[in-house]
Amino acid sequence: MEITEPMKILVINAGSSSIKYQLFDMQTEQALAAGLVERINEPNSRIKHRLLDGHHAGETVLDMPIENHHQGLSQVARLLMDDTVGVIRQPDEIDAVGHRAVHGGETFNQTSVIDEAVKKKMRALIPLAPLHNPANITGIEVAEQIFPKAVQVAVFDTAFHQTMPPAAYRYALPDELYQHHGIRAYGFHGTSHLYVSKVAADYLGQPANKTNLITAHLGNGCSICAVQGGQSVDTSMGLTPLAGLIMGTRSGDIDPGVLLFLQRKLNLSVDEADRLLNKKSGLQGICGLNDVRDIQNQQAEGNQSAELALEMYGYRIKKYIGAYLAVLGQVDGLIFTAGVGENSAYIRNLACRGLAPLGIELDRAKNEANSTGIREIQTESSRVKILVIPTNEELEIARQTWSTIRGGHYYE
Ligand code: AMP
Repeated sequence: MEITEPMKILVINAGSSSIKYQLFDMQTEQALAAGLVERINEPNSRIKHRLLDGHHAGETVLDMPIENHHQGLSQVARLLMDDTVGVIRQPDEIDAVGHRAVHGGETFNQTSVIDEAVKKKMRALIPLAPLHNPANITGIEVAEQIFPKAVQVAVFDTAFHQTMPPAAYRYALPDELYQHHGIRAYGFHGTSHLYVSKVAADYLGQPANKTNLITAHLGNGCSICAVQGGQSVDTSMGLTPLAGLIMGTRSGDIDPGVLLFLQRKLNLSVDEADRLLNKKSGLQGICGLNDVRDIQNQQAEGNQSAELALEMYGYRIKKYIGAYLAVLGQVDGLIFTAGVGENSAYIRNLACRGLAPLGIELDRAKNEANSTGIREIQTESSRVKILVIPTNEELEIARQTWSTIRGGHYYE
């Protein structure tokens, strides 16, 4: 949809001790400025701010005490209005603020304009995301104070996956756990899976509603999604972002019996189990490192636990690709995105190894060629196109914010 009037949208991702932001001019979809407030209410808090207008390269770094999100976002507003590194003159120039919201449960299958009722519903979902949702709500309340004229919009990480059928999202647990406590798979990274699936359909020259894709978001967190005709029909994350693929520090799928075993044997408390599975597992647990670049370097030097970590990581992705080939039946494209997916030829190779009989065949040279844009990396004979597509969750949030304040429904 073409935008004819000036429209500036600030995208905010508020975490418990951080605020990431990006300001967009929606007429051009150009990001004007971006930055990060980090270590809020901790020692060494700082703000990093960048102008993205092409003329002022470089970063402004402010080391200063930031005690809370209100102080952090006030400083962001000040930087955005600064004579040298700013892009607006007053807060009112921001028409809307798009908030990344982590858990929308079954309540939010659409991006929503925020009012008191929406905030109340988001609070009711805190038990499903006890770390993330309170931070998102704080981000919203602070933005309402600092940008009072802007429309506030919540874009939920789970919303894209609300089209999954019950057979995919239900767990084989007693029914009342679903009915009374909402225990089911919700899936996350929806904004990224949606963004790359639309870019892929465009690139392939097919309507999104006639395109079947497997989208692999491999970043700090990792998830993979089966997209049928533009809709999510299955994804690897579950009730929480712990399930599915092996991640930097998260375990991904394990036998739930492991937890029972550890509780009985080691008296593991809930908090200890949480830390174990979220912070001390995944690649970190296997080889002591969580950044795929470092692990690849170690592997190249002959470190065997680094090699095993990468093998396990790639093997898990491959298993899910196989599962989603079965779910979808016919697949037009396999998409790799996010930090690892966009940059690691090594991991893409492991994930696709041996899949040629199933129609997925990577071209070694194309896979290893460096490039930052969209590219195809399959062989001539591969039935499925394999694409590397840079994700842009912030732009997707800005687009959804814009279309939602126009009264549009975003998801099919
Ligand atoms: P993201 O969450 O999308 O920002 O992804 C972050 C992760 O991407 C990092 O933890 C790295 O493991 C990974 N990454 C970034 N660049 C590379 C690279 N050139 N090769 C391998 N992994 C990379």
